[in-house]
Amino acid sequence: MEQQDEILWLEGLEVIRRIISQGHEAYLVGGCVRDRFLGRSLHDIDIATSATPEEVMGLFARTIPTGLKHGTVTIMENGRSFEVTTFRQEFGYSDARRPDKVAFVLDVREDLARRDFTFNAMAIGLNGELVDPFGGKVDLEAGIVSSVGEASERFEEDALRMLRAIRFGAEFDFQLSPELWRGIVEQRPKLKQVAMERVSSEWDKMMAGSGPEQACHYLFKSGLLTNVKEPLPYAFQEAIESYRFNRLPWQWSMSFGDLGSLGSQLLELPLITDPDLRWAALLSGFGIREKDCEDLCRTLRFSGRRIARISSVVGFNERMNELGSFSTKDHWFSAVLAYGRTTSQDWLDMAEAGNRVAAEERGKLAKPAAASISELHIRGNELSSFLGKPPGPWIADLLRYLLEEVAFERVPNERAALLAAAKRVEGNTEL
Ligand code: ATP
Ligand code: MG
Repeated sequence: MEQQDEILWLEGLEVIRRIISQGHEAYLVGGCVRDRFLGRSLHDIDIATSATPEEVMGLFARTIPTGLKHGTVTIMENGRSFEVTTFRQEFGYSDARRPDKVAFVLDVREDLARRDFTFNAMAIGLNGELVDPFGGKVDLEAGIVSSVGEASERFEEDALRMLRAIRFGAEFDFQLSPELWRGIVEQRPKLKQVAMERVSSEWDKMMAGSGPEQACHYLFKSGLLTNVKEPLPYAFQEAIESYRFNRLPWQWSMSFGDLGSLGSQLLELPLITDPDLRWAALLSGFGIREKDCEDLCRTLRFSGRRIARISSVVGFNERMNELGSFSTKDHWFSAVLAYGRTTSQDWLDMAEAGNRVAAEERGKLAKPAAASISELHIRGNELSSFLGKPPGPWIADLLRYLLEEVAFERVPNERAALLAAAKRVEGNTEL
């Protein structure tokens, strides 16, 4: 455990000490308790208390009424924030996401009962006493994700929990309990009620996390992704379905003898560090084309920048596959010319990390002397005055021609050589 985490934890204890000193109950709760047991770094500290939000606000100098209706107050101490929530129960999830109503309660166990998974339903008191009514610690030690209460019912209340279960399972390299898996399969149509932004943000966290291959396995095998609010491109759904109906068991295990070709595509994901390139590797590995990739990223509400980056790498990959071989310099150069240096670099990073290209092969892929018109050592106006022709659309055509000549190493990227080449070709077209 890092020193930072230790300090954060002790500060959390200070906050509950203050609340307890006024005769209330207070505990550190949820993710921070789980992460401390796992020895993982803590994002934030959540506190649960019997005190009402008003009482909490009366105890600390700087507070923000984050969600008074739901009992949450954020308090600021030493430049850090702590979320303090009054013990509560939740009722009625008519939109399969948010409770219609909450009720404050006095017993921490009742508060823990509303939480999603056993390991997220533990609390630690001021003297280190653990409140763990659902066996969260045992599940953590066994490496199992299981729901608090009946999985199917808990997913029916809040469909997002199905994605959270998969995210935690993949992130911690845990198994999903068989009962939890049955719950997901039963309740997967409910995912249609969850906003695309939320689906996307969970899936994106999984892709950037430590078990993207396991996460995708669970997502694909469960049939969840054919039950999202806005349908994903048909080609992608088809790929998922063929993954789903192959012989693999639903439990993830790296020791499978035969992962199948799509399964082995998943194994390259954790080898790639950049999350955007993981997306590109997933989609290109599943045979998704550039256009469908754009549609998928748009459905997932990715930023324009990310859509362009991921889809270009997928397009570049498609092109390399069409060309058959990237060891031919001209093929490689023509792809770099079509997509630009940045994309070619991204593709190489992806392909090399995922072992699609051997490092020595990469060495053979020379950098073209120019990959865009701005890299040419000649400007349009120089061509115009040298050839004595008024500027016009011909300049762009000529520059594009010169770029190819330079990229394919037929003309050096030098002013005199470029002017001579320009003169030759202009002479030709006038004949
Ligand atoms: P992380 O922040 O790493 O995603 P976390 O467990 O802190 O993990 P949060 O979303 O911050 O997750 O939620 C804090 C706590 O609130 C959880 O530990 C869990 O006890 C409870 N919780 C969060 N979302 C849900 C949910 N959809 N259903 C039930 N309980 C939930
Ligand atoms: Mg959290």
